[in-house]
Amino acid sequence: MVAKAPPSAGVSTPRASRPLLSSLPAVDRLLRDPALAGLKEARGHSVVKQAIQDVLATARAGFESGSPIPDADSLRAAIGAKVEAQTAPRIRSVINLTGTVIHTNLGRALMADEAVESVVAAMRSYCALEYDLAGGDRGDRDTIVEELLVDLTGAEAATVVNNNAAAVVLTLAALAGRKEAVISHGELIEIGGAFRMPDIMKAAGCRLVAIGTTNRTHPRDYENAIGPKTGIVVKAHWSNYAISGFTNVVDEAAIAEIAHRQGVPFMVDLGAGALIDLTRFGLPCEPLPRDSLNSGVDVVTFSGDKLLGGPQAGIIVGGKDVIARIKKHPLKRAMRCSKVTLAALEATLRIYGSDHRLAERLPVLALLTRSPEDIRAACGRVLPAVARFVGDSFTVRISDCASQIGSGSLPVDRLPSSAVVVEPCSTKGSGKAIASITERLRGLPTPVLGRVSQGALWLDLRCLRSPEEAQLVAELEAGR
Ligand SMILES: *Cc1c(COP(=O)(O)O)cnc(C)c1O
Repeated sequence: MVAKAPPSAGVSTPRASRPLLSSLPAVDRLLRDPALAGLKEARGHSVVKQAIQDVLATARAGFESGSPIPDADSLRAAIGAKVEAQTAPRIRSVINLTGTVIHTNLGRALMADEAVESVVAAMRSYCALEYDLAGGDRGDRDTIVEELLVDLTGAEAATVVNNNAAAVVLTLAALAGRKEAVISHGELIEIGGAFRMPDIMKAAGCRLVAIGTTNRTHPRDYENAIGPKTGIVVKAHWSNYAISGFTNVVDEAAIAEIAHRQGVPFMVDLGAGALIDLTRFGLPCEPLPRDSLNSGVDVVTFSGDKLLGGPQAGIIVGGKDVIARIKKHPLKRAMRCSKVTLAALEATLRIYGSDHRLAERLPVLALLTRSPEDIRAACGRVLPAVARFVGDSFTVRISDCASQIGSGSLPVDRLPSSAVVVEPCSTKGSGKAIASITERLRGLPTPVLGRVSQGALWLDLRCLRSPEEAQLVAELEAGR
């Protein structure tokens, strides 16, 4: 490519004596540069070549707007930086100071060490995923977790798919495809990320029959709606909203009784799906799959990566016959879990099975049960580094706050916590000041994410575990 001459500069200007564009090395010469050999060896010829082309294009454009031609060392440094930027993982670790423990945008549950180790082993080697080692025959991958799920929920049988949305679609399609699905108006929920119950039902091939009203549904609403065209009765956990005041919901046992009188199966989408009574740990009460099954519900679906604290998965538990119908449906194959998911899920379920030191071994439970005193003490340790990082135009203090569990679990309940609060000294331009601080925190080597509220930045330290605490302080000190 021939570059244009710089815009007509007089012969007497200093520009006339600048080195010529032709002094910029060619792509091939840089590719043969011994100083870049190590980079080529590590990252590959094509990645380095692309970086060279990009860096030379930038240098040419710079020359045209009057900048000098970079020397060989600066070119090499720029090429190295370009390669690093291009090959850096897009799935980056972040420090979650939003106070939301199960944050969908930040990957939901942190997993137990046992789950991490099991996943690594399953990824590194062949494993008996669908292989019955006792008989030497082909096996079923569901058996890896089915027994554990049966023990933990009291169900007769269980199966797993990629997420709870898939579990709901599959259950509806298998039990009520081309038939009517009866659900209360008040449960036509939308969960974040485009999970909307009416759309899910349509996608599963069911005809939605909404009964009752937004705030009140009665047993007679179910009785009147169920008929020969009904394929399933559905109940969905509200998850991320609450209704209060003049309300009525029909309890699961009563709905089960009405549905079974007509020979229709009854499913419950529990959403978060705690496996144990969380009140044991001083947490708000969350319904258990076991309780639904005991009330006569035929199938219960829930997520693996919400309160359960495992990998993204959709767990389906219920009676032998309904689970067999679900497993046989062609969509089951399209939604099946990988060995990576199954390895993580099995290890997580085994922790529950042992019922031993759960709040230490399950990170989600550890974070949810962290004491306010412990979090406040962490705020005290982190505050000086935050104050130095943000500088004199902000005040920094510690304040009580309330953490969220997240992902639609226990929506109204908040956990008492503490935050380092960063506030601009001057109210003038405070919005911009906050935006610039949040941007600087996001720009740290390990990006830090807080919550902006009431004209201040709140760094809730509930989810800051001790190795990350030291890292955060070090990065704040280095970044100021
Ligand atoms: C979260 C949730 C879902 C979706 O589950 P995913 O695992 O995110 O697919 C469906 N229903 C309810 C009630 C939920 O809370």
